[in-house]
Amino acid sequence: MLVNEHVRFGEGGTGDPATGDRPLLYREGDLWYAVFTTEYEFDPSITFHPSEEEVGIDLGIISFAALSDGTFIENPHVYRNAEDAIKEAHHKVHRRKKGSHRRARAKKELSRLYRKARNKRRDFLHKASHKLIKQYGTLVFEDLHIDTMTKAPEPKQDEHGNYLPNGAAAKGGLNKSILDAGWGTFVMICSHKAAEAGGKVVKVSPNGTSQACSGCGCVVPKDLSIRWHSCPHCGCELDRDQNAARNILQRYHMQKQNGAGSVPQRSLVGGL
Ligand SMILES: [Zn+2]
Repeated sequence: MLVNEHVRFGEGGTGDPATGDRPLLYREGDLWYAVFTTEYEFDPSITFHPSEEEVGIDLGIISFAALSDGTFIENPHVYRNAEDAIKEAHHKVHRRKKGSHRRARAKKELSRLYRKARNKRRDFLHKASHKLIKQYGTLVFEDLHIDTMTKAPEPKQDEHGNYLPNGAAAKGGLNKSILDAGWGTFVMICSHKAAEAGGKVVKVSPNGTSQACSGCGCVVPKDLSIRWHSCPHCGCELDRDQNAARNILQRYHMQKQNGAGSVPQRSLVGGL
């Protein structure tokens, strides 16, 4: 939208028409955004999802998501692809003299690249969630705390006090991928879309979903580098993340059976 001198905006607000509040204004690079809040009638009790299909979803690194029915959603690695360009743009900013026009121009270019990467990622998250919500009535995710997952893992020691490889380096390198993949945002978007479509998003405990065998329940230990689940007890053979996705769905079924029920996730209506 074009803002000219005839449009008067204040310092920013919620943009809520009910209170006549001004829109929230913010600037990103050389673009200005105005955020308005709108209201619409929505009664979840009269909306039913046409599908009773349930799916377990394991959010991962290699693939963005592995589904319990055997399909995968591939990771776009949007940020990764743009990474080189962004790095180069950063260098350019630092090379140029402070306060110079050339530096200002480089900064502008840098913010444009970031914006492009963010938009692409958001677009991907919306499309992927839309597809899932259309097909499945219930989406089951792990209750992941992204904050702790992206922290450097604690070193583990064996019984002799030697440090065990716990995938620290691998995990460290994965941190950006996790943030890049935008898991938390994805689950939030899914919750929002599910609520509108009469479906639901539920979360189950993530403990041991990758280690347990989805065929027989036995624990089959494997570190992050092992991508294949091969169970010596029941002969179950499948992709590591798919095994996890099946465990996630089974965990939800167990919760339902035990009467613990599932707590539908609150729909978060955000500016996404
Ligand atoms: Zn097994």
